[in-house]
Amino acid sequence: MASGTEPGGPRRELVRLQALARVAGAAAGSGGLDAVLAAIVDGVQDAFGLDVVLNLYEPELDTYVVRAAVGEGVEQLMHTSSTRESFEELLDRRFEIVPDVFFIPHGAGIDVERLGPFYTPSYEWRGPGYWHPDDMCFVGMRTSQGQLVGILSIDSTIDQHIPSPEQFELLRVFAMVGANVVENALLAREIAGLEAEREMKVLRQELEEEVALRQSLLEIGSRLGEVSAAAPQDIFPTLSERLAMVVPIKSLTVSTVDVDKRVVSPIYHSEAEVADAVLRFDIPFGTGATGCAVVTQQSYIDNDDPGATVSVQIPGTPEVAEHVLAVPVLVEDEVKVVLTLRRNAKEAPFVPLDAHRAELFAQHLASAFLLMELAESRRLLAEQVSKLEDLNRLKDEFVASVSHELRTPLTAIIGSVVTVATLGDMLSAESRREMLTGAERQAKRLAELLENLLAESRLTAGDTVIAPVRVEVGPFVEEVAETLRFRAPGRIVESATDDTVVFTDRTLLYRILFNLGDNAIKYSDGRVTLTSRADRGGVRIEVSDEGIGIAGEDIPKVFEQFRQLDASDARRVGGVGLGLHLSLKAAKALGGRIEVQSEPGRGSTFALWLPAEPTPLRARNAAEQSS
Ligand code: ADP
Repeated sequence: MASGTEPGGPRRELVRLQALARVAGAAAGSGGLDAVLAAIVDGVQDAFGLDVVLNLYEPELDTYVVRAAVGEGVEQLMHTSSTRESFEELLDRRFEIVPDVFFIPHGAGIDVERLGPFYTPSYEWRGPGYWHPDDMCFVGMRTSQGQLVGILSIDSTIDQHIPSPEQFELLRVFAMVGANVVENALLAREIAGLEAEREMKVLRQELEEEVALRQSLLEIGSRLGEVSAAAPQDIFPTLSERLAMVVPIKSLTVSTVDVDKRVVSPIYHSEAEVADAVLRFDIPFGTGATGCAVVTQQSYIDNDDPGATVSVQIPGTPEVAEHVLAVPVLVEDEVKVVLTLRRNAKEAPFVPLDAHRAELFAQHLASAFLLMELAESRRLLAEQVSKLEDLNRLKDEFVASVSHELRTPLTAIIGSVVTVATLGDMLSAESRREMLTGAERQAKRLAELLENLLAESRLTAGDTVIAPVRVEVGPFVEEVAETLRFRAPGRIVESATDDTVVFTDRTLLYRILFNLGDNAIKYSDGRVTLTSRADRGGVRIEVSDEGIGIAGEDIPKVFEQFRQLDASDARRVGGVGLGLHLSLKAAKALGGRIEVQSEPGRGSTFALWLPAEPTPLRARNAAEQSS
């Protein structure tokens, strides 16, 4: 700018107006406060050809800080500061040309040095009316609300006219526009700060919720660890409680998916009053939010919205408008379980964020279900192992008793036969006959045992061929009674029979009756009775004794393979724990059944019922059913 430029003039006015517009426009820009401040000082220089330092008031520090500067050598002043008091003292009313514009002539005796570093231009003064190097001009930046936000320190690097009052007035307008722009920028910053704070708050809240969510999941995880071996239901109340902490809900339903029947079956519902009704109601695939979530394998929001809702009314539950959110639990790409969240229609509808949070639970639940399935199969396996161990132990005992059962009669037979062979001549005919009869009895006992073993192994293998023939039950039962009498001389074996005829397998029927009769003799000292009569289209044959009897809870056990209720009994009376197991299997193979009535100390009745003709069941099937 040329020295001695005449102030005023239309061109000069235009430049000033343009500069002023630019300062005002800075408010609309998005460059932030520093850009606004720069625009103000640039504007003043453009409009007046003066050097400007903008001192912005910092309320927190109660100081003025140089935030923008334009002019020769003034950059060094950037970021220096002066206390408010020392600065505002300079705004002496005596030097106020127009409101808020102060021009302090060099000879006024005011010490501006105390403001700290100060720039003093180095040009020669031309005389009165011209800007002396030590002349100072301050313009208060006052907003339209009257608030002082900063002070412009104005200087001249050239020896120019001291501005006229009109120009000072215009400078004031600049400062005022600038102040308002600054205020706007500060406000915007404050709003941004508040916004950021609000966002932080929301973020913090979300984070807190996230933390709570994760904590809940962890807790559920550890609870699951505890209950993984127990029933899965144990976890559901905890689940619904935790879920409600992050997704407010009225109720939670947990359902399993039945792929074959294409229905979703509720297994847990959090509201006790309606739980029964909910658990009774199977939801078909594709029906309601729950059924839709299974089909789409995605969360399904069904807010209460007339015309748009897919909800189904569960019979037995009150008819209330609800928002529903169904979340599938996927295990290895298959929906195994569905979580159905309900909220009263008066509450806020479900939003995708709710679904997202519930899905986090669902993911966790998926692994929980895997765990549960694992625990279940582990439990089944353990059960099987223990059963096998049991069976193994019984088998060991069986082998021991079989070898004992084989050896005992053999020893007796050998003893009798050797005695007769070596001492035959010295024995009376009576003694010889007794000895040989004894041997025969023992041999028959051996034969029965071998028959039992053979029949058992055939039935188990399913090799038994059932050959039904006409059997007159009365004489057949008499025959068995006779065998028992021979086997247990001195015991009373009674029989009461009729003339019922059935078609059945003689060998198996004999096996059954012999074993029932043999037990009656073994487990009693008194009378044994065999009866038969026509019954419900077949025959009922009963074998009764007046012996030790069987406790009610033990009755199912006696039919187990190799099971003997009292091992000491077995030693006393013999037996290998096979008779009843085999009898039941054989009865089933013949289409019949065995019933037991017994009272400890009073005796037992084993009743065999057989159809008049065997059902066309193959032995294999029967054997499978009985095992
Ligand atoms: P066992 O070879 O031991 O007789 P069973 O299978 O025939 O084997 O019988 C199994 C168990 O059932 C017997 O060991 C005995 O404890 C009990 N039991 C069977 N029949 C009777 C009965 N008539 N009275 C009392 N207990 C019986």
